[in-house]
Amino acid sequence: MHTDTASPSAGKCDGCSAADVPLMKVSLGRDFFGRVYDRLSPSADLSPKWYCDACSVEKNLQRDFRDIKSEFDNLSKGAASALGQAEQLDRATLRVKEIAAMIAANALKQTLLKPDEVSALARSLDSRRG
Ligand SMILES: [Zn+2]
Repeated sequence: MHTDTASPSAGKCDGCSAADVPLMKVSLGRDFFGRVYDRLSPSADLSPKWYCDACSVEKNLQRDFRDIKSEFDNLSKGAASALGQAEQLDRATLRVKEIAAMIAANALKQTLLKPDEVSALARSLDSRRG
């Protein structure tokens, strides 16, 4: 079978590798905290990729998860963090719980997100809130 992962015309999802499904382009834009994305993303994420319906949803969740995780790591180290603001911490906690709930409900394919990591972060965030 001929595969050509470099081209969207190959019709393959960059998340689950499903072929022959409708694909949409996902570019990351701004991060969860409203910042321009390239400040903290790996360079691979700067170019749009192609995802099937389910994976495009999950990709957005993964992006938020990763942003929040990285800020939480900063917070834990005592470094400057967007989560230093109570309001952002609340918002981030709700978002991670929302992602965890979708995983629990089997609403995701889980090709991009790891359930263990999501629930661990949800717990850690909760413990930071007074
Ligand atoms: Zn997919």
